[in-house]
Amino acid sequence: MAAPARDDVVTMDKIVALCKRRGFVFQSSEIYGGLASTYDYAHYGVLLKSNVKSEWWRAMVQERDDIVALDAAILMHPRTWVASGHLEGFTDPLVQCLGKCKKRWREDHLREAAAADGAGGGDPAAIAAEELRCPECGGELTEPRNFNLMFETYMGPVQEDAARIYLRPETAQGIFVNFKNVLQFARKTPPFGIAQVGKSFRNEITPGSFLFRTREFEQMEMEFFVAPDDAREWFDYWCEERRRWYDELGLRPDHLRLRDHDPQELSHYSSSTSDVEYLFPIGWSELEGIANRGDYDLRQHAAFSGEKLEYVDSATGERYFPHVIEPAAGADRATLAFLVDAYDEEEVEGRTRTVLRLHPRLAPVKVAVLPLVNKDGQPELAREIYKELRPLMPAEYDAGGSIGRRYRRQDEIGTPWGVTVDHQTLEDGTVTLRDRDSLEQARVPRTELARELGRRLGDEWRSPKL
Ligand code: ATP
Repeated sequence: MAAPARDDVVTMDKIVALCKRRGFVFQSSEIYGGLASTYDYAHYGVLLKSNVKSEWWRAMVQERDDIVALDAAILMHPRTWVASGHLEGFTDPLVQCLGKCKKRWREDHLREAAAADGAGGGDPAAIAAEELRCPECGGELTEPRNFNLMFETYMGPVQEDAARIYLRPETAQGIFVNFKNVLQFARKTPPFGIAQVGKSFRNEITPGSFLFRTREFEQMEMEFFVAPDDAREWFDYWCEERRRWYDELGLRPDHLRLRDHDPQELSHYSSSTSDVEYLFPIGWSELEGIANRGDYDLRQHAAFSGEKLEYVDSATGERYFPHVIEPAAGADRATLAFLVDAYDEEEVEGRTRTVLRLHPRLAPVKVAVLPLVNKDGQPELAREIYKELRPLMPAEYDAGGSIGRRYRRQDEIGTPWGVTVDHQTLEDGTVTLRDRDSLEQARVPRTELARELGRRLGDEWRSPKL
């Protein structure tokens, strides 16, 4: 859609290739030709995404005392989706090419792209439907029809209407339907939040751009319940707080911005929304949405379930539906952004070095221990050191191939530190400690290694900027 605006070496193709080559992400069901826009995480991808989610939990729960965790089921009572408005309103406008290619498109995306090229005076809503053409072959398009994005399935052995249920399209509703349960056990009063990480499913019309838009993905959502009068202030607070989270984990500030939604972009439940956007190789795109959902959800669920979902202030007796501020992020989209932003190529001694400059907190492996050569007692000693470090931080031992090849591999998976055992280690007990980004090598006594790595990790953990 939007024209690529990055001026560095990264492209989505390079990221896809590196992810396959180094075991981050594979195409799903590849031996059967793949399932479109569906991906499997391999070893390093699992570790990386898990670190992204851990950092989110750390920021949302560990470092605060006003948010509690939840893990609700993916399958929910079907009335949930009537109350939430998803059955009626969770639709995208679908158009199909009447020309040669017959491809399907999201009309709102075509409008945005046309407006970015100057149509409608830059206003997507001002563009007449007839002006839009198929981006692939220039053909005319059908009238838009609302297409519901929820995947349906049936509960139990009989496929009848009464048994129809849905795979959740967002995790948020699991939080709203548990509002009363949480309020009773957690002894919280507004302002307080409930945080959840889990899979969501959307039958997207036009998935694509690797992990950016898939039909099965993981969300990291937090619903923050506040007194109605405080909603605006908390909305501003969470916009900045979430932008800062990406910044502190190393995304370059000039690739990160907050963008307010125009009134016509707002969802059916939202009175204001801002997106944290990242400059992907496909252009500026949403990483995370922060929405002021008002009291829409709690009111709807109260009306449809018959439960009382107001908060009652025990001191004043005041009864109200809390308003909700929701930062809703995607774990896969964030993982993709961190990969893209970390990707770099540089010339070192006449060769191109590809390196992932991942923040150490996100790096799948923190330290690699390598014998310089595969003899003279070096592998045994390196293995011993590796075993000492392994309980302290994710570590890897690698003795296969030339030292240059092994470093290249570690650079490409983003390992911040490398420890090399060489002949000198056997003589004086020191190892080389190599820094991924500066390529500086320091000799460190083996007995000091754990402390030195701990110090470096600790420094990075305290002042996260690389
Ligand atoms: P979009 O406009 O890109 O379709 P949205 O505004 O519908 O996204 P939200 O409902 O706000 O998205 O979802 C919150 C977050 O969940 C998004 O910011 C994104 O990170 C993630 N997300 C949503 N849909 C997908 C998807 N199909 N694939 C991967 N991540 C997604």
